[in-house]
Amino acid sequence: MLKINDIHVYYDMIHAIKGISLEVNEGEIVSLIGANGAGKTTILRTISGLNRSKQGSIIFKDKDITQMPAQSLVEMGLCQIPEGRRVFANMTVLENLELGAFLRKDKSEISKDIAKVYEKFPRLFERKKQMAGTLSGGEQQMLAMGRALMSKPKLLLLDEPSMGLAPILVQEIFSIIKELNNEGTTILLVEQNAHMALSIAHRGYVLETGKIVLSGDAKELAESDEIREAYLGA
Ligand code: ATP
Repeated sequence: MLKINDIHVYYDMIHAIKGISLEVNEGEIVSLIGANGAGKTTILRTISGLNRSKQGSIIFKDKDITQMPAQSLVEMGLCQIPEGRRVFANMTVLENLELGAFLRKDKSEISKDIAKVYEKFPRLFERKKQMAGTLSGGEQQMLAMGRALMSKPKLLLLDEPSMGLAPILVQEIFSIIKELNNEGTTILLVEQNAHMALSIAHRGYVLETGKIVLSGDAKELAESDEIREAYLGA
């Protein structure tokens, strides 16, 4: 579904992504793990058109999207949930969900899909009239996910969904990610929480200072000595 070939991203003189290639197959959860500053967010932003690669290519659903504007990508079914959630603080929960659907043509289906989001996240239903800025961190993560689902994504790019959440909420968010995947959404997940990220993924890539240093089956990665020592505190 997604194939990245040899991308290089710079911030002025900083060569942040140094020739990354990776792929995500339909139906998979693929986790990209690595320490602070390894370049995880930059990769997601480059896929979703917010940063540009100097060379190489990004293919999504057999189309070259390397230079495509971000909005066209959303229309094609690619949706990113940014780090730190970024919900619209001064709008209600419901308004945030409606905004998630603003590019859709099938307007009559939207209220049905809002009901589905509420089913998945009952807490959002209880708070549908509440200003998003007053939600707790976990609730904002749920809203960011609910809003993304309203665009009916084929591929969901998730940036650090566990950040700043209590362990019990992390469990809840990850079980919802798994559920979304079981329902047919392909997921590329970026996480510092290597343990959780590998536990729900099919495959994983390990990133260090802009390069992929290890990749493979998620279970095997989680059991490998290198990962256990560097990321799982073994
Ligand atoms: P974290 O887990 O801390 O979010 P990350 O793996 O997502 O880290 P990135 O945010 O992609 O890492 O950053 C990769 C490198 O690019 C870092 O060295 C960072 O300082 C640099 N960088 C990121 N954004 C910018 C920017 N807007 N301007 C300059 N340098 C940047």
